Amino acid sequence: MIVAEVLIEYSTYQLDKPFSYVANDLNVAAGKRVFVTFNNRKTVGIVLDVKEYYGDMNDYKKEFGFKLNPILSVVDDFVILNKELVDLAYHLKETTISPLISTLSVMLPSKLKPSSSFGKKKYTIFVEPLAIDKDILTSLQKEGYTYIQNNQPLTQPDFNKAFGGGLLNRLEAKGAVKKLSRESRYIEESVKLKPFLDLSQDQRAVYDKILSSDDKVYLLHGVTGSGKTEVYLHLARHALDQGQSVLILVPEISLTPQMINHVRSRFGDKVAIYHSYLNDQEKYEQYQRVVKGEVKLVVGTRSSIFMPFENIGFIILDEEHDGSYKQGSMPRYHARDVAIERAKHHGAKVILGSATPSLESYARAVKDVYHLLELPNKIGKHQKIPYRIIDTQKSLYKGRSNILTDELIDAIQNRLDLKQQAVILLNRRGYTPVFTCTKCLSVKMCKNCDIAMSYHKDDNMMVCHVCGVIEKLPVTCSECGNNKFSYRGFGTQRVEFELQKLFKDAHIVRMDADQVGKKGSHERLLNEFESKGDILLGTQMIAKGLDYHRVTLVGVLSADAMLARNSYRSVEDTFNLITQVSGRGGRGDLSSELIVQSFDAKHYAIVLACENDYIRFFNQEMQYRHLANYPPYSYLIKIVLSHHNEDLLTEKTLLVKDILNKESIWSLLGPSPLIKLKRQHRSQFILRGKDLDKMIKTLNILNVEIVKLLASVKIVIDINPMEMD
Ligand code: ADP
Ligand code: ZN
Repeated sequence: MIVAEVLIEYSTYQLDKPFSYVANDLNVAAGKRVFVTFNNRKTVGIVLDVKEYYGDMNDYKKEFGFKLNPILSVVDDFVILNKELVDLAYHLKETTISPLISTLSVMLPSKLKPSSSFGKKKYTIFVEPLAIDKDILTSLQKEGYTYIQNNQPLTQPDFNKAFGGGLLNRLEAKGAVKKLSRESRYIEESVKLKPFLDLSQDQRAVYDKILSSDDKVYLLHGVTGSGKTEVYLHLARHALDQGQSVLILVPEISLTPQMINHVRSRFGDKVAIYHSYLNDQEKYEQYQRVVKGEVKLVVGTRSSIFMPFENIGFIILDEEHDGSYKQGSMPRYHARDVAIERAKHHGAKVILGSATPSLESYARAVKDVYHLLELPNKIGKHQKIPYRIIDTQKSLYKGRSNILTDELIDAIQNRLDLKQQAVILLNRRGYTPVFTCTKCLSVKMCKNCDIAMSYHKDDNMMVCHVCGVIEKLPVTCSECGNNKFSYRGFGTQRVEFELQKLFKDAHIVRMDADQVGKKGSHERLLNEFESKGDILLGTQMIAKGLDYHRVTLVGVLSADAMLARNSYRSVEDTFNLITQVSGRGGRGDLSSELIVQSFDAKHYAIVLACENDYIRFFNQEMQYRHLANYPPYSYLIKIVLSHHNEDLLTEKTLLVKDILNKESIWSLLGPSPLIKLKRQHRSQFILRGKDLDKMIKTLNILNVEIVKLLASVKIVIDINPMEMD
């Protein structure tokens, strides 16, 4: 008799073990999905192991005391997770303290995840332009029509994301477009192939070193605009020529259409692009191209690290310091750690690239754990951008605007006169973050979270940036009945309003999470800026990857706002963001300028970012981390408990404290209460220690006991957390 060990799809610690099923006469294998009954319900599981049992069902029952159920059917014709990836899932289970099913699932596109509805053919509506006289269209309709013409093939959902559904109906009514239902298949537009650039001397040195050295992990520290991308592309070509595969990972927001075209113009259809703007079907198709060996190069965001390649030559992480490499939900893995683990299996080399490496990585490079490589010079003639830091304590409120300083206003006017472009960063969306009653001074708070709601002028609503709840503007104050309110602070919507007032003829493009829903509008906004924009205003999503040679002014508003965050990383994040955005200037032959507005104009993160002096920043910040015993001088594990019942949470928190306190391998910080989010009360512990492996091993063991006593209280364990609350 054949017995299969099957892991059921429920992602809980309690059910994190395989169950045995009979698999006679079925084509089962480890790494395939199967249908089984569990608790009288038909459900999906993944086969972990297949064993031969010497006897039959009755023998089994006699030996183990229970009867085995049969596997109902096998879902997959082929093994969807090979041995390497199953082993990796076990490794991630241990190192992130997550149930195995969650680490197996995270590797698969959602169409292949155990719980998904697979096997169905999917149809999508496409829209195509018809030949018409454009004069019958309104100007918005013309814009939509041109968009359809220029973005073939285009699906209806993608069009709607960019323009909304109403417009399409009106275009159809006028006979300008037709809708077609087709089996969906991700169709790549063809791009024109371009030759590889000849590497500069610096780039060549880095490239040669990586090929000739035996080291496994490289940290490529290269200033913005030093041509790191070209080095990656050359390395990729080299590996492909050797018959190897290559993974290039980029952060969420720098996988811009510009970047994608860049790579596709070198490798054509030999590259698969894998990112979160693809829908499930598109992801599935890209994944299939890898499984079938049609492509050996993938450029993608975090989850691409699990692409089922054989024989990987290079795994490249661009902007390795970026927070989006850490998954925010279970399993909380970091793509850098996974890259290094996979590279061991494949004998591959890992290249971590950044203008602002994470302190952890640079510290490792200094200690020769990683091989340090430098690209200290920008490509092109402008090495350093002149900058000014404007102290807003002094200069706001007496100038022409109380958001933009006179210096910045004049600089923008200057660039507009020269027909050049400006990029303005403000890392806060919405209109104003604080909406206060003028009489009792109470602030409009979210009903689910202990957070002030932001006023969004675009749709005249209050929005909670945490849980997303939307409310009408209050007419009267809920505390005192007064009907007057004041706005404090400013977000991108307000700055857009202010800029448009000051520069009436300027074409302003705003880019933030409210504007950028999906790929259509992301691409559309950047195209709009490139073709006719004067000012690109946005949150951190404009700080990376953009390579426009007519951008000659970079402005940063509220540069120190991020420092106020309650995290030991806030200084590093501030330095990174300002460095990255300043790198959007100085890319062409035109001379550029950086203007930073800050309440605290002397902070070393701001000054050294403007100076573009990573090494001095590193040294200074390391001293602070050393004094405070923060990473990389120690390791942290964050544990957050949450429940809607505050008393129950308090009670359980104390029990957990007793368990954690018994260990001497870490020092226990907390419990500290956190603000309520999404109606959940929360408390937090931080474990701090020197030996991360041992800390994780110990916590894995304790967690069994903790989960049992917590019952309905939720626990989140985050190893090497990026955020502290
Ligand atoms: P980084 O990724 O380090 O910020 P980029 O890859 O954006 O730098 O390169 C900056 C600019 O220099 C780009 O416009 C790129 O096309 C150009 N560039 C890079 N390498 C070369 C080269 N070897 N010869 C000419 N131009 C180059
Ligand atoms: Zn909320």
